[in-house]
Amino acid sequence: MERRKFLQIATGGAAAAVGGVVAVWPQAAAGPKLVRKVSTFCELCFWKCGVVATVEDGVVTKLDGHPSHPLSMGRLCPRGNGGTGLLYDPDRLKKPLIRTGKRGGEQFKEASWDEALGYIARKMERIKSEHGPEAMALFTHGHGGSFFGNMLKAYGSPNIAAPSYAQCRGPREVGFQLTFGSGIGSPENTDIANTRFLVLIGSHLGENMHNTQVQEFAECIRRGAKICVVDPRYSVAASKANWYLPIKPGTDIALLMSWVNVLLEEGLYNKEYVDRYGTGLAELRAATKENTPEWAAAITEIPAETIRTVVREMAAAKPAVLVHPGRHVTWYGDDAQRSRAIAILNGLLGSWGSKGGFYLPGGVDIPKYAVPPLPKPARAALDGAGTRYPLADETLASGLCDATLSGSPYPVKGWIVYGTNLVQSLPNPKHTLEAIDRLDLLVVVDVLPAEIAGYADVVLPEATYLERYDDLYAGTFRTPFVALRQPVVKPMYDSRPGWWIARELGLRLGLQQYYPWRDIEQYLDGRLTKMGSSLGQMQKAGVVVYPPEDGTLPADHKFDTPSGKVEFYSKTLAEMGVDAVPKHYAKPEAPEGHLRLLFGRSPLHTFGRTTNNRVMGYVVRENEVWVNNKTAAELGLKQNERVRLVNQDGVKSNAVRARVTNRIRPDCVYMVHGFGHTASKLRHTAGRGASDSELVTRVSVDPLMGGTGMFNNFVRLERGA
Ligand code: SF4
Repeated sequence: MERRKFLQIATGGAAAAVGGVVAVWPQAAAGPKLVRKVSTFCELCFWKCGVVATVEDGVVTKLDGHPSHPLSMGRLCPRGNGGTGLLYDPDRLKKPLIRTGKRGGEQFKEASWDEALGYIARKMERIKSEHGPEAMALFTHGHGGSFFGNMLKAYGSPNIAAPSYAQCRGPREVGFQLTFGSGIGSPENTDIANTRFLVLIGSHLGENMHNTQVQEFAECIRRGAKICVVDPRYSVAASKANWYLPIKPGTDIALLMSWVNVLLEEGLYNKEYVDRYGTGLAELRAATKENTPEWAAAITEIPAETIRTVVREMAAAKPAVLVHPGRHVTWYGDDAQRSRAIAILNGLLGSWGSKGGFYLPGGVDIPKYAVPPLPKPARAALDGAGTRYPLADETLASGLCDATLSGSPYPVKGWIVYGTNLVQSLPNPKHTLEAIDRLDLLVVVDVLPAEIAGYADVVLPEATYLERYDDLYAGTFRTPFVALRQPVVKPMYDSRPGWWIARELGLRLGLQQYYPWRDIEQYLDGRLTKMGSSLGQMQKAGVVVYPPEDGTLPADHKFDTPSGKVEFYSKTLAEMGVDAVPKHYAKPEAPEGHLRLLFGRSPLHTFGRTTNNRVMGYVVRENEVWVNNKTAAELGLKQNERVRLVNQDGVKSNAVRARVTNRIRPDCVYMVHGFGHTASKLRHTAGRGASDSELVTRVSVDPLMGGTGMFNNFVRLERGA
């Protein structure tokens, strides 16, 4: 789809009603209150739903979904509703801190902003003069990180990474790019609301609380669409399904390719779509000839007849079928191929660019604020993207960590870590801490004192998303939109917005020419004015929404693949000497007495970002380990008994409650990610539950794109904790 220039379109009465002061309600006991409604967008996860905040006498008392914002549609998820728990968290970072004790000792002295930023700037200048600007790296997560990315680019470093690529969604981007020439993006371009057949393969929507998708999932159920859930664990989504397939972990590719086999052998694929848009069908047919349901049944432990029945029903619903690509897909080390198998299946059903499948999203170009061209780094990024991992098209956070540890191909001496607790977000924390030991400078910019802050030389307290402006958000969606994040209340304590911190640091580094704007209001107004809008207009509306895109493929659509077609057989992969059609390979089996460790999400928590939130913690205070009841009986394990998990390398977790259930296969255990904090200043969550991250000591790296597969780790359960 063409990205369009800005058109000024009003958002209607609902948006207008939320700008400025709307009412003064007398209160009998406390006297009159000044009540304001302010539009912004959420940052409790990466989905960025529109929010309307109610502020009473300067206190944020309620957060609701913005009625006009396409991602919230008037609702927030439970985490979004609980955002005040972050704003008013008494454990927040309150002042800049400079380390006084040893790394990890959490000993700091309070500093002024001038002192802290001056300290960082001096260290960065020294690193630049001794090792070059590329020796500084940025790890970032969240919308506010863009200002730090721009600052580091102006400084001269290309080493800027988000863990959300190599540790989460990267493989599916590569798998879909290879097949359709286009990744999935965020929010995912899945037309769940209109699908007639939804397949969730390892994706636990509802527990994985992406607001818009969950609302669409509810609509899909209401309309009576057929649903198949493939998961070793009977998830909440599985409870809504027509078919639940408790697959053996690590065998998804076998199931997917057997579905491909049936579509081709029984002639059930979408012939018109494939003839018009596809290439490589004969090679796909030859490569999957032996992948019969009987072959797959022996691998996946799903009966052959069930495999046939489900795919025949899928074919009957084509093209309004959605084999969902998932989001966190770094599991076994062949994850780009697994995602490609999902893409191929969707291609055969004709769902890419069809109603009820994947829509083609539209976007909006927001003109940039004019700054001089950024310097070209003298040395390329050292994470291995595009070289060691040839198909990675974003920087690999784990690759930067590896390179820091090895000092090769050149040394990395400084990290700025924005909004991501690398000790939990990268696998194998021991490895991450060893890399940190090699640094001359570690700067952490965050709202809360998570583990990574305890290792920092300087900690900078950022204002929360409810207290700051960030850059504009141009959403690519069915209905493209532009949204504004703005302060709902003034920053508490001595915290500052990320844009201010990055700019002040940039000025101290002599990068004045990249900051021709005085403050964020001038910057945002400059961009919005060029679009035909203004900051004042956006402050009132919060979001500008464009008419819906058609979202379907035109007859002459040219895909952004080398052939211009949907590539069922990839010559790109063949030329690299790897499988041009995905193949199943056996994964490591559990050592004697061990169970495969799986992890996922809770609807109440965004991993470790929310586990200290007292609002959410009121409902879910700690995680638990799911254990099959037969496995528990063999161990003599009782419901709610506390156990420790000990992995194949002898790493032992905190004690955690056992949830004994028949909702998981006997060969696995499952936990929600993000608990088991050790940072003592996270007083609400420290010591509660267990951390899966510390148990992930073996990583299966995807050779195509560097994704870190984490599900080849095994644990035994130790009673008497
Ligand atoms: S899905 Fe929930 S946490 Fe994420 S942005 Fe939306 S409301 Fe916030």
